[in-house]
Amino acid sequence: MRAKTVAIAGCGPAGLAAALLLQRDGHRVTIYERFEAAGPVGSGLMIQPTGLAVLRELGLAEEILAAGARIDRLFGRSVPSERIVLDVRYAALGDGAGHGIGIHRAALFNALHAAAVAAQIPIITGRSVASAEPTAAGARMLIFADGEPAGPFDLVVDALGTSSPLAPPTGRALAYGAFWASLDWVEGAGFDKAALEQRYVRANRMVGILPIGRPSPTDAPKATFFWSLRTDQLDAWRQAGLASWKAEVLKLWPATAPFLDQVTAPEQLTFARYAHRTLPQPAQPGLIHLGDAWHSTSPQLGQGANMALLDAYALAKALRESADLAIAPARAVALRQRHVRLYQGMSALFTPVYQSDSQALPLLRDRIAGPLSRIPPAPWILAAMVSGLIGWPLRSLGLNAQAPPDLGPALAAGTRDRPLIVFDGDCVMCSAQAQFVMRNDRARRFNLTTAQGPLGQELYRRLGLPTEDFETMLLVENGRVQSHSDAAIGIAAGLGWPWRAALVAKLIPRALRDRLYRLIARNRYRWFGRRETCWRPTPDVADRIL
Ligand SMILES: Cc1cc2nc3c(=O)[nH]c(=O)nc-3n(C[C@H](O)[C@H](O)[C@H](O)COP(=O)(O)OP(=O)(O)OC[C@H]3O[C@@H](n4cnc5c(N)ncnc54)[C@H](O)[C@@H]3O)c2cc1C
Repeated sequence: MRAKTVAIAGCGPAGLAAALLLQRDGHRVTIYERFEAAGPVGSGLMIQPTGLAVLRELGLAEEILAAGARIDRLFGRSVPSERIVLDVRYAALGDGAGHGIGIHRAALFNALHAAAVAAQIPIITGRSVASAEPTAAGARMLIFADGEPAGPFDLVVDALGTSSPLAPPTGRALAYGAFWASLDWVEGAGFDKAALEQRYVRANRMVGILPIGRPSPTDAPKATFFWSLRTDQLDAWRQAGLASWKAEVLKLWPATAPFLDQVTAPEQLTFARYAHRTLPQPAQPGLIHLGDAWHSTSPQLGQGANMALLDAYALAKALRESADLAIAPARAVALRQRHVRLYQGMSALFTPVYQSDSQALPLLRDRIAGPLSRIPPAPWILAAMVSGLIGWPLRSLGLNAQAPPDLGPALAAGTRDRPLIVFDGDCVMCSAQAQFVMRNDRARRFNLTTAQGPLGQELYRRLGLPTEDFETMLLVENGRVQSHSDAAIGIAAGLGWPWRAALVAKLIPRALRDRLYRLIARNRYRWFGRRETCWRPTPDVADRIL
């Protein structure tokens, strides 16, 4: 593969992640940023399991986890009724559910920026990008605001955010924005340090507190405080003064007093405006738009930075798969398109429920949607939605929401080409299933081993699972482990048609599927019997038994 010359315009999460991934793949990358000193803009944000999967690939997950605050729950009450209208717990996703991370933008920026500096990626600051002009040879020149050019580049990556001058104007400004401030976290004030908490008056007032960990290791833990406001009320807000605003917030949520006490000047609050926009054509010859430059919206679902990271990963993957620049950018867009459409759609749907002048929507939210959200499968759907996992965005990128277990080199290599099924060799039902797999695995895809054998024992030990009372079979493929109902479905899918039809079971929330799996697993000896001797393979399949 010939290394490409790549200009990354913008030093935000999308630009930095794309630069790191492309440089790692051998491309010659230069970042251009308008500010003299590249730095983070704004207060805190939430990293979701999707964004963390990309940060893990960049080797930055540990640093981000250590800097941020673990968020297990998103919780909101309507005022004055005190009705719970938002209660999303990541744990609703069942075994192996991820969690959010509240993080100061500076901590996220510092981790990505330091990695870019360590990788010796040139970061040219004080350069305001104005356009990316195509050349006769099919490359692109970057043109700066002062008219100076740079290039030519095989590829320009537009990571300039929502007001990118490289993207045609599209979308609409949203009526509501919000004030944001980073304040010291107050211990013992009655706030959950693992939750984003919010209070709403209808949909036209919203106050929230998000723990965000430490901007740098020497700082005290912080929280992001936010207050929703119509953009056309900004002047009136300024004229009314800080004292009047504080009185309003206190009336709405008295417990915020120790946070409000820290706000002594309006300059501590930064007003953020939101726009909802999605580019119809995010890839053109020699140019691709990533992150907010491609799609931006209100931060109600907390996905923007995570989607920017996923976009960057998709571009690197597409360029790895095809060095042809007539193909790779379009392929990167195809890898992300469905997820982007889904989340832009959901965001457009949900934003007015929390930020609008509507009377009807908050009424529906408080009286109907709030109570319904606690009835299964709604908790699972909501948890998947805030995790960023609706539409399976990781699968097409070959990423995992959970850190891959350390299986050791032998097991990782041994399961690369042929998935390995690990089953309970003492259990009559499990042995019958193993024989069924052997009979129907016409492509001879799977290897098998028993949980009681040396390989099985090592696997259960490495995964921290009981090594005598096996609660689940395992499917290990390319170092990735599936258990419970996911393993059963994965095996059926691997057998080809008609067994592949079992994939429709994935439409059932995993928590429900696994409940049924566990019921059968707990009673398997009682219902189906136990073998006196451990299962032995017949000679025709012996080569597939490890
Ligand atoms: C208040 C608020 C809260 C948010 N909360 C969340 C959250 O909880 N979770 C989440 O995932 N997302 C959240 N987001 C969204 C998230 O911040 C963005 O989606 C994310 O920053 C997009 O990253 P990006 O790299 O595409 O763009 P940006 O972060 O906007 O980076 C763009 C970069 O380009 C530079 N630049 C811009 N124009 C030029 C130019 N002409 N020339 C050179 N450089 C230029 C900028 O200085 C900047 O460094 C929130 C956003 C806001 C405003």
